[in-house]
Amino acid sequence: MGVTLRYVRRATREVSFGGVRIGGDNPIAVQSMANTPTADIEQTVAQTLRIANAGAEIVRLTAQGMKEGEALQPIMERLRTNNCNAAIVADIHFTPEIAMMAAEAVDKVRINPGNFRTTNGELERLISICRRRGVALRIGVNHGSLAKRIFDEYGDTPEGMVASAMEFLRMCRDADFHDVVVSMKSSNTRVMVHAYRLLVEAMQREEMDYPLHLGVTEAGDGIEGRIKSAVGIGALLADGIGDTLRVSLTEEPENEVPVGKMLVEHFQHRTATFTVEATEGYSPTTFRARTAAKPVIHSEVTADYDIIDATTDNPTHEWRAAILNSTTQRPVVLRRRYDDDDMTRVAIYAAADMGQLLIDGLAEGVWVDAPNITEEARREIELVLLQAARLRFTRTEYIACPSCGRTLYDITATLAAIKARTSHLKDLKIGVMGCIVNGPGEMADADYGYVGSSPDHITLYRGRSVVARNIHQSEALDRLIEIIKSDGRWHEPTDQDGTKEL
Ligand code: SF4
Repeated sequence: MGVTLRYVRRATREVSFGGVRIGGDNPIAVQSMANTPTADIEQTVAQTLRIANAGAEIVRLTAQGMKEGEALQPIMERLRTNNCNAAIVADIHFTPEIAMMAAEAVDKVRINPGNFRTTNGELERLISICRRRGVALRIGVNHGSLAKRIFDEYGDTPEGMVASAMEFLRMCRDADFHDVVVSMKSSNTRVMVHAYRLLVEAMQREEMDYPLHLGVTEAGDGIEGRIKSAVGIGALLADGIGDTLRVSLTEEPENEVPVGKMLVEHFQHRTATFTVEATEGYSPTTFRARTAAKPVIHSEVTADYDIIDATTDNPTHEWRAAILNSTTQRPVVLRRRYDDDDMTRVAIYAAADMGQLLIDGLAEGVWVDAPNITEEARREIELVLLQAARLRFTRTEYIACPSCGRTLYDITATLAAIKARTSHLKDLKIGVMGCIVNGPGEMADADYGYVGSSPDHITLYRGRSVVARNIHQSEALDRLIEIIKSDGRWHEPTDQDGTKEL
């Protein structure tokens, strides 16, 4: 008896807020987040309108303090006067009082169990406001900001993320409040995919059917940010997991929306079904490489690799079945043809199709057969894809936050400047984070961190330790490079760096 693989969306309850319905049979909704200071009502309304006009059904605003909380009501009024129908979400940091204030104004409130107190009845009070006003709640767990007591028990693991979410979900359920959405974000695609899958299992065990919001945090910008998001989000969408999503990019927030829409559309028509005969396959919740072969791109494939083509409308399951049914243990290269002539589209589709197999350790190579883009573009997509799935690191990894109303400097321009000076240091991970409150925790395992500490001032980190505190931005990049040099991890760019192992 085999197991049938087909695309079916996970059954979830419908949750509605601010005129948007998610979960149930509703299409997957696309979100983005404003990065203007929320207290600047003019700017925030203008940017929210731009994001909504780009097609986002849900827009999030940061509400870290009293003045941002107080701005929410006038922002809502102005948006509605401008016929903006997007549902508005307030993102709460630390302060339960602001959450209560936000729940009186917006359509949904996001709290992070890592920094929201559960004693003193704060959650119960928040729930009662949400219930009265028809406001939904997102339990937004973040890999980089778990509560200390969870961290002490589980470390920063997917299991800890699940424990953190389940604790809050049980409290909501016990209060008979079910307008709840959950997310489990990480900048590490493997951790993120694993955490969502474990959460689905944990919810099933307790008969919970809350919808999920998907996202990879700190994905960066450009082609890297798009591919990284498509790998993580696509791996889950392929299994029918996910009811809303956000592609976080260190760019203008309206750029996130078309990428999100592309991902949603890409998974809309998947009809082909496949059977896996050998039911002993690989556990989708543990990374286990089938072979020790070197991860390769198309130009490096040798006779030692099996090339497996996927030609149906359901490539992820087609490959999975073919790999698990194969009687050999030879390393696998995933190959698929993409006729698009736009590099970004090819990159997003290939990453969404292939990412899951790479994350699950089932394949060792990728072959993006895209005749209508250049050879250089194909190779770039393939290398970035292997890196996004954490199989092979061929370029500097930038863990850059998407920025929000807390950001203390021009992060888009700064990321570009940092990349221009350091992108040849392919062994390094550099965190570029907008604020000191969430930045240090969320830049994960970065070797160096460039973190906003006060307006236009930066604190530099080596790993998790501060090495230069609150220096002006005009000096910060030079100081960062001096630190890298003093650690013996710097070299001047060479021709070989330009070709990056190709
Ligand atoms: S690190 Fe700070 S600035 Fe960046 S998105 Fe997170 S909260 Fe906003």
